[in-house]
Amino acid sequence: MDGSIVPGESGCHGGRETLMEAARAAGKSESMDRLMTDYPRGPHDQPQSMCPAFGALRVGLRMRRTATILSGSACCVYGLTFTSHFYGARRTVGYVPFNSETLVKGQLFEDIREAVYQTAKPADYDTVVVINLCVPTASGVPLDRLPKQIDGVRVIGIDVPGFGVPTHAEAKDVLAGAMLRYARTEAEQGPVARPSKMQSMPTVSLIGELFPADPPSIGALLAPMGLAVAPQTPCREWRDLYAALDCRVAAAVHPFYTAAIREFRAAGRPVVGSGPVGVEGTAAWLDAIGAAANVARADIDAAKARALPAIEAALAANPIHARITVSGYEGSELLVARLLIEAGAEVPYVGTACPRTEWAEADREWLAARGTHVQFRASLEQDMAAMMDVRPDLAAGTTPLVQKAKELGIPALYFTNMVSARPLFGAAGAASLAGIIAAQTRGAPRFTQMVNFFEGVGVKDTAGYGWTDKPQEPAGARERYKRQREAKARATEAVGH
Ligand code: SF4
Repeated sequence: MDGSIVPGESGCHGGRETLMEAARAAGKSESMDRLMTDYPRGPHDQPQSMCPAFGALRVGLRMRRTATILSGSACCVYGLTFTSHFYGARRTVGYVPFNSETLVKGQLFEDIREAVYQTAKPADYDTVVVINLCVPTASGVPLDRLPKQIDGVRVIGIDVPGFGVPTHAEAKDVLAGAMLRYARTEAEQGPVARPSKMQSMPTVSLIGELFPADPPSIGALLAPMGLAVAPQTPCREWRDLYAALDCRVAAAVHPFYTAAIREFRAAGRPVVGSGPVGVEGTAAWLDAIGAAANVARADIDAAKARALPAIEAALAANPIHARITVSGYEGSELLVARLLIEAGAEVPYVGTACPRTEWAEADREWLAARGTHVQFRASLEQDMAAMMDVRPDLAAGTTPLVQKAKELGIPALYFTNMVSARPLFGAAGAASLAGIIAAQTRGAPRFTQMVNFFEGVGVKDTAGYGWTDKPQEPAGARERYKRQREAKARATEAVGH
């Protein structure tokens, strides 16, 4: 299977339970138990998304002086490499190939070990990350037996099988958590390298991949409370991990980073959920952060007094009068829905591929109180059914959902490209996101026109290319095929299959 396909019961995970059992039998019980606890299943087992390992690969590739090596089937590695370069990774992805013999005889582990030794040069790298994909995990390739460091270069081996990690979002957490754990242990053992950017004020560590303009706007929101932002998790440089852990409060803006949050807690840092979206969301978040950081009441009020009027004004300037459904796999779906509702939208449904965690609870409750159905671990089918049921003025969702919406003449926005690619927090978020959504909901008549114009073209047996005219059905073809099918069915019955 290549890394860009949709895993499902008939795809990568056709034998998920078998692979899980194989991994356990091969000595991976501890690793599998950890994954099952951190990334709980259900109500839908495996939301449709790309190969989960892509999340971990991307986190590794985005870090400076970090080498990432994949251990898995060539076709998986091909797909993952392709996808990473499609998304602009300008790094080499390492690969240790194997065949049945090297896998069964344990030679693969020796080959990985050798590759790690060859790569771990302190002049080039701070860290070497090795990622076990499905087959090596199921076969028990023991990455935990790799040396922990070679000439000062850290070595981190993780299992990220599609049958154990439900989404690529959570796979980011597997590597982010493993790196934080390593860095925390280093910091506990003695002095560590000075982070490249030291803040003079106590900091708040933001957890989640955010739009680049968001951390500075959050920094501006925090400044009146005497707080600054620490480097984000996932980090871009090893030393940033120390700075992130050295925070006063960790903010789980994306609520599915279970392993990363465990490390912040182990470092004694309080963790706050939700994020500063809209007026109510920002007020509640500043209150929660201020309380967790022991900030004086007057300073919290000063921060709110400075931030809230601007957000209110931005929302008032971009009112949304529309019914919108929101679906995605990024982890920010609930926050986006909150902002839309504050801008005036009706949001009857939010589906997220991520699991329900305690860090999403405040947002879930806020949305439920406003009549929004929140579906965690939402499947594409659930997102589609909600869209057909609700008939929104705009559907924000994943590629297949947007495609379906457009076929139906419903204006739609691709969540990852359009929603996640702009600010979400503070006044900038209110202006930018509410602005684009308000503009898109005005496009409904154009969609109706388009659907009417293309009615019946390129669907079912008129699909395909190369036609110069509208394709004509050969005379009698349907009747002929019907008779053939019936004859075949009768023959099968007669043989007694
Ligand atoms: S690593 Fe697993 S989930 Fe990913 S493409 Fe390969 S078989 Fe599918």
